Amino acid sequence: MEIVTKLQRILVTGGAGFLGSHMCERLVDEGHDVICLDNFFTAQKSNVAHLLPRSNFELIRHDVTLPIFLEVDQIYHMACPAAPGHYQFNPIKTIKTSVLGSINMLGIAKRCGARILLASTSEIYGDPLIHPQPESYWGNVNTIGVRSCYDEGKRVAETLFMDYHRTNKVDIRIVRIFNTYGPRMHPYDGRVVSNFIRQAIQGQPITIFGEGEQTRSFCYRNDLVEGIFRLMNNKDNFIGPVNIGNPGEFTIRELAELVMEISGCKVALEKRPLPPDDPARRRPDITLAKKHLNWEPQVPLRDGLKKTIDWFRSIDMDHYRPPTPNYV
Ligand code: NAD
Ligand code: UDP
Repeated sequence: MEIVTKLQRILVTGGAGFLGSHMCERLVDEGHDVICLDNFFTAQKSNVAHLLPRSNFELIRHDVTLPIFLEVDQIYHMACPAAPGHYQFNPIKTIKTSVLGSINMLGIAKRCGARILLASTSEIYGDPLIHPQPESYWGNVNTIGVRSCYDEGKRVAETLFMDYHRTNKVDIRIVRIFNTYGPRMHPYDGRVVSNFIRQAIQGQPITIFGEGEQTRSFCYRNDLVEGIFRLMNNKDNFIGPVNIGNPGEFTIRELAELVMEISGCKVALEKRPLPPDDPARRRPDITLAKKHLNWEPQVPLRDGLKKTIDWFRSIDMDHYRPPTPNYV
């Protein structure tokens, strides 16, 4: 698979977030003219502060639910709260972000003839009845549950992308991202990796929801960014949807044990109720990513966790505002 890149004007929505800021960093380093657009709902300006002095980087505070007029060649559309506590904080806003935000960004892509990539999610498979999950699986989503604002929002976003593609020939890409972790995760986002690391290094009990027998597959952020980049720039015009994630599958209890072992912090395990509609199992089938993008993850969970724990130890968590009351 050949990757083609020439210098472009690139918009990254949600560009100050965990994954968006790494995408911006990579694109700025490659010399592209990068516009980072973010409303800072779950982001920190510190995620992109190091890019501000670069002449090919521009930061715009804007909400994607509102129209904006920009001229660009490519759009990475990543704006959306991703952690359950964040997207459930204001569920109506979450669905507006996915639906209105996608319509606004697809409008720019249509007008400019820009290529646009959607950061979709494994959540579109819901609580899957097929394991591991291939892209051909249509999913098992509760339309009226507390996760629906996110799951259904992303499902509609995928539909919008496909309809703009079929109807208006918009050049699209769709990536379904599975649980990704790494430095720059918000320490209070309530996601399992950030919670467990923060709790362990602060000597607090690790909160296990349910019995901890549910599984997730964790992808290190560098692997993820590489996969997304390959999808955006592959020469074969492979548009996806494609799963990008690490097929290594772990129970939540196993993750807790690993975090304690690698951090050297032995703390108590505290059981909490399992949140409603929490998927029981999740693992990506990455056959398509291997075939079309020649991509597979390189970083084992142990190595990625070590880097992430080191980063959590290096930051001052008092500088991070808990953005919602939903973290534990
Ligand atoms: P994040 O919360 O760190 O990043 C989301 C960014 O979008 C933040 O900077 C936030 O301020 C911004 N944002 C939210 N609503 C916005 C709005 N209305 N207008 C403008 N900006 C807005 O989360 P992340 O993990 O970096 O996720 C990035 C994208 O990847 C999201 O679209 C998410 O759904 C998708 N994704 C992530 C994962 C994962 O495991 N990290 C898994 C599946 C999908
Ligand atoms: N989880 C947990 N303790 C926590 C946070 C999460 O046991 O402190 C569990 C959660 O119930 C889910 C899994 O870890 O089964 C992953 O949760 P996360 O919020 O990271 O992402 P999800 O994949 O559910 O969107």
